[in-house]
Amino acid sequence: MATITNSTFSQLVKESNSHLKDDVKIDFDFFLNHVYENKKIFFVFNFYERRRLFTARCLLEDEKKFISSYYNKLEVKPDKKEFVYSRGGSFKYHLFDDCISISSDYVDFAIPDEIKREGGSYIEIFRKWFEEKKFKELYFETKNKDLVNRNIVSEFNKTFPLDIFCNQINPNYNFIRERVNTGTVKVEYRFSKSEFYEKINNLLTKRDKLLKNSDLRKQLALCDFLLYKDESSINSYLNQKFKYDLIDNYGLENLKIFWQRHKEIKNEIYYLLIENYKWTYNFKEKSYDEIDLNELGFVCCKYCESKAFNQPHLLSQKS
Ligand SMILES: [Zn+2]
Repeated sequence: MATITNSTFSQLVKESNSHLKDDVKIDFDFFLNHVYENKKIFFVFNFYERRRLFTARCLLEDEKKFISSYYNKLEVKPDKKEFVYSRGGSFKYHLFDDCISISSDYVDFAIPDEIKREGGSYIEIFRKWFEEKKFKELYFETKNKDLVNRNIVSEFNKTFPLDIFCNQINPNYNFIRERVNTGTVKVEYRFSKSEFYEKINNLLTKRDKLLKNSDLRKQLALCDFLLYKDESSINSYLNQKFKYDLIDNYGLENLKIFWQRHKEIKNEIYYLLIENYKWTYNFKEKSYDEIDLNELGFVCCKYCESKAFNQPHLLSQKS
């Protein structure tokens, strides 16, 4: 049996919108039956968020049904060429709970704009140079971020501006991107169902107060994804959707404050629902069949694969 990590689960849910089959329609009745049985909650979320919540629950509740009825196979993630080590690729699953890649903290290093601007082959040259310089090893040996970063900046400035005529890197530039390991799928704390209901109800009351039972505010709340868009995109979206000029009437800043408040309430509800699913369907103990994960487009982590090959008896003991 195989496990997936917390962060993989979150990524899978986040990217699920594009992978759910087109004919999966999460309308009102479907939502109550398959996502969460509360009419008010349906209206809190937009089309995409409803799909994410459905994916999270279904993946935990009955992944076989999820794969056979609702899902298109995951595509291989593209290499966005932003980091030295993350090169996209497939999602991974693990065969052993003590796998080194689950238990170790994760670090990657940014590819600076000076290199990105030069394009494809320079990115590969930079990655190769970076690996040869063993900065990652230095990071794990010393755990001294300032020292490692200073070292990278200084070595970079000795090499690349001369080689490819790019600018020097500013000494304050931070190459290091750390992520403290979130471990295997775990529900660490005690979960109280009554506390959960109480929190959900409080948040719904808070949302009601914000919306003041106004139809306009209800419609505007569903546009909270505009919060991080630029002014011209906000303008053109609102003009299409509403009959009069909302920015003129209310001011952009006020609209943003409203969206910010709505988003905060919504995110808390979203987080609580996900935790509720994890607890209800026992995410902590959850093992998936490898066949199912292969169906989803996952591949086995390379450490686990080689351990299973070299020490197959460990694998049979486990399952
Ligand atoms: Zn592994």
